Amino acid sequence: MRIFTCLFAFLMVIQHQGQNLKSPSEFLGYELGSQFTRHHEVVSYFQYVSEALPGQVQLQPYGYTNERRPLMLAVLSSPENMQNAEALRTAHLQSTEGSGNSQIAVVWLSYNVHGNESVSTEASMQTLYELLTTKKEYLKNTLVIIDPCINPDGRDRYVNWYYQYKNTPYQVDANSKEHREGWWSGRSNHYMFDLNRDWAWLTQVESQQRLKQFNKWMPHIHVDFHEQGMNRPYYFAPAAEPYHEVITDFQRDFQVKIGKNHARYFDQNGWFYFTREVFDLFYPSYGDTYPTYNGAIGMTYEQGGSGRAGLGVQVASGDTLTLKDRIAHHLTTGLSTVEVASQNAGTLNEEFRTFYNGKKDFKYQSYVLNGDSDKQQALAELLDKHEIAYGWAVESTVRGLSFGSGANASLKTNSRSMVVSTNQKKGTLVKVLFEPNAVLSDSLTYDITAWSLPYAYGLDAMASEGLVKSDASQVAPWSVIPPGIEKGAYAHIGDWNSMKDARFLSDLIQNGIRVRRSERPFQLGGKTWGAGSLIITRGDNAHKSDFEQVLQSLVEKHQKPLTSAATGLVDSGKDFGSGYVGMIPEAKVAILSGEPTSTLSFGEVWHYFEQQLHYPISVLDAEYFDGVALGDYDVLVLPNGWGYWSFLNEGRKTRLKDWVAGGGRLIAMGGALAHLGGEDGFSIERKQADTTDIETEIPPSFEDSSRERIREEITGAIFKTRVDPTHPMAFGYGNTYYTLKLGGDTYTLPGGSMVASLGESPLPVAGFAGSKAVTNLAESLVFAMEYHGRGQVVYMADNPLFRGFWENGKLFFANAIFMAE
Ligand SMILES: [Zn+2]
Repeated sequence: MRIFTCLFAFLMVIQHQGQNLKSPSEFLGYELGSQFTRHHEVVSYFQYVSEALPGQVQLQPYGYTNERRPLMLAVLSSPENMQNAEALRTAHLQSTEGSGNSQIAVVWLSYNVHGNESVSTEASMQTLYELLTTKKEYLKNTLVIIDPCINPDGRDRYVNWYYQYKNTPYQVDANSKEHREGWWSGRSNHYMFDLNRDWAWLTQVESQQRLKQFNKWMPHIHVDFHEQGMNRPYYFAPAAEPYHEVITDFQRDFQVKIGKNHARYFDQNGWFYFTREVFDLFYPSYGDTYPTYNGAIGMTYEQGGSGRAGLGVQVASGDTLTLKDRIAHHLTTGLSTVEVASQNAGTLNEEFRTFYNGKKDFKYQSYVLNGDSDKQQALAELLDKHEIAYGWAVESTVRGLSFGSGANASLKTNSRSMVVSTNQKKGTLVKVLFEPNAVLSDSLTYDITAWSLPYAYGLDAMASEGLVKSDASQVAPWSVIPPGIEKGAYAHIGDWNSMKDARFLSDLIQNGIRVRRSERPFQLGGKTWGAGSLIITRGDNAHKSDFEQVLQSLVEKHQKPLTSAATGLVDSGKDFGSGYVGMIPEAKVAILSGEPTSTLSFGEVWHYFEQQLHYPISVLDAEYFDGVALGDYDVLVLPNGWGYWSFLNEGRKTRLKDWVAGGGRLIAMGGALAHLGGEDGFSIERKQADTTDIETEIPPSFEDSSRERIREEITGAIFKTRVDPTHPMAFGYGNTYYTLKLGGDTYTLPGGSMVASLGESPLPVAGFAGSKAVTNLAESLVFAMEYHGRGQVVYMADNPLFRGFWENGKLFFANAIFMAE
């Protein structure tokens, strides 16, 4: 029986390895490019191929999206290679540690990270098919990993929308509805995050699960397939300046080699393309830069089309761009990439070994991070995901560049000082993510120019030119299990200075435990507690028979140590019965969504509440906002956006003002600030840029005008701000805070109080800020609050939730919900 089964399986394999593998068109029942393929059908095709050619294709599911769509990789190579796929993978990984000697090139093709750039996934199916049939000679020395869709939630959102509104046959007129996707577009994921800004920060489930696979394979080449505006031709490598300084000559040269091969095919077909423009290699959280900083040749390919192109659209030249054209282009570059890899497998392996084992000439060898252990823990969780090693220092003094002062200084270290060094496998990534100020070869870039993690995590850091000794085996301070609460105590006290604390509070409130917070610092039992400290009393929770059990279980769940107190009489400060120790309200929170707001900014707040703070939020769409009784909510968030000029008309402003006067708390962010002012109760004022010198300047040439313009811009730079730590919005912070400033819009608030603001002559501590923009920033607000009637307006000129990665800003938002009053 067993012999028969083997024989049968053998025959099946023989049969399928012939010309019988169904193409996507044959399998799907329609010509590829004549319809959009929904995610479950894409999954079916990949499953079919892996079952038809089990000796050549392994399908590796790696998780689920927020909307429960499967994520998967197809790993394919020649039957000989795939017999030992695991041994091959191990040998390849060993070359990051000096001992591997594989000669196989590893190419990873990622499709459709932006959901409505919908051609990519269609192209992935044809690419899989061609690699296994017409191009199978490439696979003799190349292993290809295909991720057919990084963002299935966004892509299906687009595809379902398209089917709903499409003309039949499709209408090439770009004004027709099928080419006009609405506000809730398919570009981003469920939480409206841009997954192509998330590789380094890993805030999203798709990124987190994918990076585990990435670290298992560490490809030589990674391609991220995209689409750009429909009137643009095709873009491929080499990339534009600026390049980050860690990018090696080999990485630069190999991009050129690949680009030349693509150009050969595009020239043959008479297709248009451009290189070395727009798409630079600097910000580390992209699908091209992140793999590059991990030793790969990381590239972005951009077809013209995206959410506007549908199945066919008339472009500016008068030609019709079809989905079939778009597939042909992405198919060509995908195959051409694998071809170049296969021709250069030896070189790729050799250079990859050099990247990992060669001498790294980095200025700073170690970063030492002192500070709150909750913040260290948050950073450590990110480092763990990147497989970046860290350890703990010994008692000593280290000299180096202080992140706080920007000058050379010394820092005392002890066993609670975290040390991250560049002499490790992921050393290049450490340099890129930690260095205080990345060298920018050109200030015209596509994205933010500063992201240094010590600032983002609010840690007191030092960059040392020498290697700082550390012990990686020491148990992290946060791994210690907190002691149990004392039964029958008068109160239990917890500190307040991190998102971890905010999550704990959120859980307490949702479990019906009543919590107070001290408005002033106090001392009790020899210990000093800062303003904002949580006070959970037996008296407030007398109604709850299982109070102590629930509290104990939450202490364990959040690993949050509490200090139990036998009395409410403090040594100094305000007693627990004082008016300065107020109850934290169970706030009902709502957020505005829809046209006036930016999808990304809305998504950042949405994700913050549901996935970071774990606190409920209602989403109120602008479409029916006027019909909602605002009195049902305690807090309303207006996220950043560009549509407030029409949304915030006099009628709505009056309505909001009345609601605030009656006790509501309005949190206005970014673009909402510009249109709130001019109303009694909203005293926010926009600072106009000083334009006095503009007339006297020689008008720049057309070519120089974009360089001239950036003098008025700030492209994501870090600034040191002054904080008023006595303000409830700033509880848990010290006197300074490093903010990530994303633009030049500046505000003052004559009728309110500053929570965080810029000084007389602000200069960025990292990143690019134009000279004119900086002048205008003097004495402007970062975060501020205004009282009106029984309520408050919180103004956030900067966005502490930007891309979910500025960890140290998140407590300001929690304060705006729980601490302010
Ligand atoms: Zn894109």
